[in-house]
Amino acid sequence: MPNQNDFSPYSPAEIRAFTPRVMRWGFGTVMAVIVFIAMLGLWRIELDHRAMNEIVANDQTAVKMLFRMQLSARDRILALLGAVHTEDPFVRDSGIQRFYGLGGDFVAARAQLAGLDLDGTARALLARQSEQVARIRPLLARVIEHLESGRRAEAQQLMLDRVVPAQNQMIETLTALQEHEILEMYKRVASVREAQKRAGLLFLLVGLAGVLLTWRILLQITRRMGGLIAHLLDASERLRESNLDLKFQKLALDEHNIVSISDVNGNIISVNDKFCEASQYSREELLGRNHRLLKSGRHSSAFYEDMWSTISTGKVWHGEICNRRKDGTFYWVASTILPFVDEDGLPSQYVSVRTDITAVKEAQRVLERSRDEMERLVQVRTIELAEREEMLRSITNAAQDAVVLIDHAGLITYWNPAAASMFGYTEAEAMGQNLHDLVVPERYLGQHRTGFARFIESGEGPLIGRVVAIQAKRRTGEEFPAEIAISAVRLRGQWGAVGIVRDATEHKQAEERLQLLATTDTLTGICNRRRFDEVLADEIRRAARFSSPLSLILFDIDHFKRINDTFGHQAGDQVLIELARVIGGAIRATDLFARWGGEEFMVLAPGCDLNAARLLAEKLRVLLENRRFANVGQVTCSFGVAAYVPGDDADSLMRSVDRCLYRAKAAGRNRVETHALSLTVAG
Ligand code: GH3
Ligand code: MG
Ligand code: MG
Repeated sequence: MPNQNDFSPYSPAEIRAFTPRVMRWGFGTVMAVIVFIAMLGLWRIELDHRAMNEIVANDQTAVKMLFRMQLSARDRILALLGAVHTEDPFVRDSGIQRFYGLGGDFVAARAQLAGLDLDGTARALLARQSEQVARIRPLLARVIEHLESGRRAEAQQLMLDRVVPAQNQMIETLTALQEHEILEMYKRVASVREAQKRAGLLFLLVGLAGVLLTWRILLQITRRMGGLIAHLLDASERLRESNLDLKFQKLALDEHNIVSISDVNGNIISVNDKFCEASQYSREELLGRNHRLLKSGRHSSAFYEDMWSTISTGKVWHGEICNRRKDGTFYWVASTILPFVDEDGLPSQYVSVRTDITAVKEAQRVLERSRDEMERLVQVRTIELAEREEMLRSITNAAQDAVVLIDHAGLITYWNPAAASMFGYTEAEAMGQNLHDLVVPERYLGQHRTGFARFIESGEGPLIGRVVAIQAKRRTGEEFPAEIAISAVRLRGQWGAVGIVRDATEHKQAEERLQLLATTDTLTGICNRRRFDEVLADEIRRAARFSSPLSLILFDIDHFKRINDTFGHQAGDQVLIELARVIGGAIRATDLFARWGGEEFMVLAPGCDLNAARLLAEKLRVLLENRRFANVGQVTCSFGVAAYVPGDDADSLMRSVDRCLYRAKAAGRNRVETHALSLTVAG
């Protein structure tokens, strides 16, 4: 698949497979064509050579045999002529012997000639020669007979007249045969030459066809190789670019890293300046030396074995190594060793890239030491904490107040026995429960939850660090007043709270009793003067702010002394009690009824103007006038009525109403007098 990041659109495997296939196929075919043509030529030459040899051998033998026949025929005649012309019988006999011997030679040569491949003309000539020999043979026998019979002269005559001419004829026939054979030989050689010429032409044609085919194949290969070469050129260009990148990287690498190259045995081949700087050795001291030079002795032999077993198999090794400088001090490096592998996949060199991490290691060592120290401290603290917790637990267990701890979710994480008895839930039941759900009355739940949500944001809130009175709820649903002191606690980075809760039921009751005592008149049970003063001040402020009407009625029992004197002090008290009950039942709930002192009473009527207050006072006067008190009978009162006017304070209002009462007394008692206009209602 073509890939932007690759140098070639073909994968290395494809190129590797494709190139030899094209080369093998192309050159294989070319070689096969060349070998075929050469073989064809050689075969043709061999064939012609053999044909030539055969022709030459045959014809040469024929010529040689003819020559031998000519020679032996001539020598035979010469031997016989010698025997014919001598007088010496020994010479004559040896001449005859020689004549016979040469006859065998002639016959042998002729037999060999007859066995050769001869054409018709040659066979005809040979037949003629045979006839001629047949004619000569009886003549020769007669010559020899003459000689052996001593007739030399007849023998000489026969030789000259008949034998020699016949013999010459036969030799002529042989010569003709020889000439014919030589001519034939030339003819055949010429025809072989002609065949050779034709074969040469054929060879040339086949060769030309081979060259054309080869050219075609080469063209094809060149085209395919052209594409490949273009990719290779492109690849080499990219390679050059990436080489440039690599050079930059190397620069960057050199700048910040300790770099060395070593051979397979760890002998240093090359180092950069950083290496020299870190090790304190000069480049000259390092080159050719083994890396063992820097061994610190801080690592086990297994450490180095692991490293060597990794890199010797061509894999990259990462690790931290402690080295020894020239001055004997140590330095730490984070090391990466890259093996450069040869074609067999075996490392030929190792490139080590290291970063000095001595400072990091030192920091690590310090950190480890302080961590150990911390751990020791933590152990001590843990024991202390456990002791304190135990102590705290004993205290809270013994405490009368409930001690409750909640986490940031409001869930209970501590619940002491007092809490269990106060709220009615055991520790096991309460742990993990939401405190609010458990102990806060329903109507306050929303308020508590909102407040708590705000509290866990900051650890602050209006309830924190104070003792606050709240309403709490027991398991039975019974509500009770509680005093609660809440502190914020930081638990695992989040705000939680510890609360100490005291059941305030008794306290509240006592307080209420005190409050009642402080504000109530003990004899009549109505408000006392102190309470009246408080409420009066509040109501005057309210009337001033809202411009609402406010009136005051002061009344005093007429001639009470007499009642005391007549019926006794106790009866007087009873009158006071009864009067308070009667009046209390006749006024509005919003009116405040108080005993001002002795037998004087106040009615504070908010919302009532002077006229309404006057009518009320009149109503009360009539009520008393018409009543018959136990043992005493009729009891009347005189009334003063005053209304608030802007600018009034408690004193001025009191003075006004007091003056009105005085006027009512002065005017004859059992009557109502108002501040602005004096209204008298006769009893
Ligand atoms: P006036 O009509 O002018 O008010 O005549 P009065 O007799 O009521 O005169 P004054 O108000 O001066 O006297 C009040 C008397 O009330 C004096 C006192 O002995 C009596 N008294 C005050 N407090 C009590 C009380 O708590 N119980 C009884 N039994 N008598 C009381
Ligand atoms: Mg009185
Ligand atoms: Mg009085």
